[in-house]
Amino acid sequence: DVTVPEFVLAGAEAYANKVALVEAAPGGRSYTYGEVARDVARFARALRSVGVRKGHVVVVALPNLAVYPVVSLGIMSAGAIFSGVNPRAIAAEIKKQVEDSEAKLVVTNDVAYDKVKDAGVPVIAIGDAVERMMPGAISWDDLLAAADRTGAPVVELDPVQQSDLCALPYSSGTTGVSKGVMLSHRNLVSNLCSSMFAVGDELLGHVVTLGLMPFFHIYGITGICCSTLRHKGTVVVMDRFDLRTFLGALVTHRVMFAPVVPPVMLAMVKSPVADEFDLSGLALRSVMTAAAPLAPDLLAAFQEKFPGVQVEEAYGLTEHSCITLTHAGGGDPEKGPVQIAKKNSVGFILPNLEVKFVDPDTGRSLPKNTPGEVCVRSQAVMQGYYKKKEETERTIDAKGWLHTGDVGYIDDDGDVFIVDRIKELIKYKGFQVAPAELEAILLSHPSVEDAAVFGVPDEEAGEVPASCVVRRRGAPESEADMMAYVAARVASYKKIRLLRFVDAIPKSVSGKILRRQLRDEFVER
Ligand code: ATP
Repeated sequence: DVTVPEFVLAGAEAYANKVALVEAAPGGRSYTYGEVARDVARFARALRSVGVRKGHVVVVALPNLAVYPVVSLGIMSAGAIFSGVNPRAIAAEIKKQVEDSEAKLVVTNDVAYDKVKDAGVPVIAIGDAVERMMPGAISWDDLLAAADRTGAPVVELDPVQQSDLCALPYSSGTTGVSKGVMLSHRNLVSNLCSSMFAVGDELLGHVVTLGLMPFFHIYGITGICCSTLRHKGTVVVMDRFDLRTFLGALVTHRVMFAPVVPPVMLAMVKSPVADEFDLSGLALRSVMTAAAPLAPDLLAAFQEKFPGVQVEEAYGLTEHSCITLTHAGGGDPEKGPVQIAKKNSVGFILPNLEVKFVDPDTGRSLPKNTPGEVCVRSQAVMQGYYKKKEETERTIDAKGWLHTGDVGYIDDDGDVFIVDRIKELIKYKGFQVAPAELEAILLSHPSVEDAAVFGVPDEEAGEVPASCVVRRRGAPESEADMMAYVAARVASYKKIRLLRFVDAIPKSVSGKILRRQLRDEFVER
């Protein structure tokens, strides 16, 4: 029955002088555990003083900063609900989230202030610059200074229902409209317990994690901030990816654990910038990759370039509070706590959750090694989509199973493989073609830097597989050569029938290929 901040900051007194959060940039802000605990409590009290009550939503439109976890934990500590938004989204999108969530307040800084000023709710401004730019805003510094007493407000959680909300992230809408995902304190604490059980206590007190993934996304806030703070490690905070800064941060801050997405690994492997760094003395022990499929050739190339670094694939979704399957741990406890999953699998089922694979048409459970929709049941399954009852009922069935919309299977050893998202499967003449498989083949071509595959409407076949490819500079192959390369490696119904060279593949902040956008652009041209 603990709140997320109570769980995450438990034991912080013993680490009062240890750095909890530090911005990677030279001279960046840092927080010790003592300061985090103090400011989380102060901010929670301050929120109460400006009228925020249990169950109210506070939208956070901030980039990744050291103060970010303090803000989000402070909101939760006041019993309110933290709803992160991409500070670089357009004003209309931010406004939509503020309106849909019925937020009482927005917290921002100079990155997003001009987009929130017309959102229609009071604003808390962090930093001198934004305070000057927004004369009507509430100053973060003044607010905290005025709340200078000890202890956070007491938040009573319903011990039976366990449904008190702490977070309302909005799915990015890669495959449909963006929806508010209602997550309770119990959801997040349960997910953190499962993932930490899998990792073990080995890193307690000294893990140094790179906080690169956006903190407004569940991967950043649960998978990186909350789990590292619970471990009393240090989060090296980085805003936006740039390979030179990224590698510099790994070296300077002796980062041990870097949770990323496949495009970051692609840059680490393929960009010549990496050759400017002496990477031999890196403290980096493991790289976690999640959110999108990792192509086998990319994994192999990464392992060749960074032989001492373990690659842990993981699979998760916002609706399940973050991680669901992971490489470290899991499997058969008799074989030891840290059992490493097979290459190219997304890992084992985490402790304390059930996973099954079902036929989406009949709803029947499928045997091992047979692909079906991945369904999860656990304490980490969301409470539902905010104000979307029908969508919730379509996603969580009467027995509590969350239907993820992903296709995968489990093998005889308990390793799970994700095939693709159901909505992204291309339906060619009644056959189903998984874009991820074709993308992996294209990426194995030495002249291909990046690639995306998607379906485009076709009168005769329903849909045909089409592709956009980023070709290495100076590579001689033509579009036809690339299509022939794939055709030689797949059954004929999977052949790519349309292919265009492009300069870049559009991706979401969480590393997902924006296939809908690509398809629309492809069809329009
Ligand atoms: P929407 O559901 O609106 O499209 P979203 O894509 O932002 O929003 P997230 O919660 O960010 O939703 O992403 C979850 C999805 O990411 C999963 O359902 C799955 O399709 C994909 N995913 C996560 N991890 C992996 C992985 N290791 N391999 C392949 N796909 C993954």
